[in-house]
Amino acid sequence: MAGLATLVRDDAVLIHDAARPFLNSGHIKALLAGMDGADGAILALPVADTVKRESGENIVTAPRDGLWRAQTPQAFRIAPLRAAYAAWSDDEAPTDDAGVIEAVGGRVRIVAGDPMLMKLTYPEDFEMAERLAGGARITRIGQGVDAHRLGPGDGVWLCGVKIPSDKALIGHSDADAGLHAITDAILGAIGQGDIGDHFPPTDPQWKGAPSHLFLTHAANLVREGGGALINVDVTMICEQPKIKPHREAMRARLGEILGLPVSRISVKATTTEGMGYTGREEGILAQAIASVETPA
Ligand code: MG
Repeated sequence: MAGLATLVRDDAVLIHDAARPFLNSGHIKALLAGMDGADGAILALPVADTVKRESGENIVTAPRDGLWRAQTPQAFRIAPLRAAYAAWSDDEAPTDDAGVIEAVGGRVRIVAGDPMLMKLTYPEDFEMAERLAGGARITRIGQGVDAHRLGPGDGVWLCGVKIPSDKALIGHSDADAGLHAITDAILGAIGQGDIGDHFPPTDPQWKGAPSHLFLTHAANLVREGGGALINVDVTMICEQPKIKPHREAMRARLGEILGLPVSRISVKATTTEGMGYTGREEGILAQAIASVETPA
């Protein structure tokens, strides 16, 4: 009533329930066209489900012919709507505006409703609406490769796990080639450059840094872009150390860093049968791929 009172023009008004967020201009055009020769028009859907009514302890099937589920917006000519509201008894609240026109014998037309105009009432309705509102999503993949030299040391960091050894990987940070490869794979999937762009090796603050910081940063970039990591798969190429005894610890650690269940994390290893720099145990190579889901 307060809204109607503010209207100065006397043609048409559309009244909408804000609990139906997926309104579009097509709905409005259909309603305005549907009002022709009537006092108003509403969007409504035929009842598709079989309708039951409680009858004592039992239920009975109610006829659904001619039954419609009324939606909003609803469109009305302002003068007849004002007159109908003036005639409405204050004793009860109407459940929609068309009902007020109906009560005085006014003519309201039905135009084709839209399931997208669902009314968000229960928590599960909001989950469905958020999925619908999320728009198109695409899956993207990225790959990363990293190698570090082996030298004397007190253990090899790989995939966030320190493997006891009389060697270590040499690098500006902790030289965890596994984490670096995964970081680059994730950055690749979202088109955000490479690890050196985000953590320049010339910057002293990353000297000796634990590489989980780099991986956490890449995972956060995915989330900040409205995306979600799907899975990662990393392969270490080396003769020593043997990866298999540490595989599950690595998966668990990667799961912690990435916020993923271990079922979405794969850690693999292979050798080059003595060939090349990995075969001569001069260094360790890691290759990774990552997939992410992002807004299209
Ligand atoms: Mg590296």
